[in-house]
Amino acid sequence: GMGIVFEHTRKSFPDGTVAVADLNLEVKPGELLALVGPSGCGKSTTLRMVNRLVEPTSGVISVGGTDVLSQDAVQLRRGIGYVIQNVGLFPHRTVAQNVATVPGLLGWDSQRTGERVDELLSLVGLAPATYGSRYPHELSGGERQRVGVARALATEPPVLLMDEPFGAVDPQGRRRLQKEFAQIQRDLGTTVMMVTHDIREAALLADRIAVFSGGAVVEQIGTPQQVTEA
Ligand code: ADP
Ligand code: ADP
Repeated sequence: GMGIVFEHTRKSFPDGTVAVADLNLEVKPGELLALVGPSGCGKSTTLRMVNRLVEPTSGVISVGGTDVLSQDAVQLRRGIGYVIQNVGLFPHRTVAQNVATVPGLLGWDSQRTGERVDELLSLVGLAPATYGSRYPHELSGGERQRVGVARALATEPPVLLMDEPFGAVDPQGRRRLQKEFAQIQRDLGTTVMMVTHDIREAALLADRIAVFSGGAVVEQIGTPQQVTEA
């Protein structure tokens, strides 16, 4: 696995907003770190600096020991899965084609890609024969979210960034998808940063929880136990 390290990372926007103040944070290889805290405290910005959707103003961020700013951004993103709420599936591509996006970019042959797509759709609870040929508008919100998770995991990226990944899933489906996801994450040893406002979700899935406030981590909690007791 690959670790992620933030050292004195800062992000201010041109309008003067300081989204991330002076962040020092480490995510160990294979660890799932949940970022929690009130709206506007810098969680999404922190996530988006890892895959360079947002460029830090100063400080260093490294993934697997390499400074992200020293890498080609497009190349970097191919190795980092990204799941957001209302996933942004490609509307004119079927479910199977959506999941096959990154394998396609990496030049996998069609047999390997097809097998991987079927495997992943099954893992997230979508029967490939039923769902593979559908288009995103033919799915429920929860089903689209599942496809987003499958798409992000298609090439088994060592690092996965998730921003409210299960937000659109109905409560029953969410619980199941969380468990399925936890299993997949453990099996693959994926390093994960997950933004969530759902403290139960954080307690269920995270190895460690970073509590954000005003662009900084104000507390780190090592075990879910501590959260439930708090
Ligand atoms: P969170 O994910 O914790 O809700 P964000 O990281 O999205 O917080 O935002 C942190 C702060 O930065 C907020 O005050 C937000 O309004 C501000 N912000 C985010 N993106 C931009 C932007 N592109 N331009 C200006 N301010 C921004
Ligand atoms: P949810 O309650 O999860 O939001 P919906 O009520 O949106 O689900 O959809 C219920 C079922 O109907 C889902 O299995 C979904 O795949 C299917 N469905 C929804 N819209 C369409 C459509 N336009 N074409 C085919 N199937 C659809």
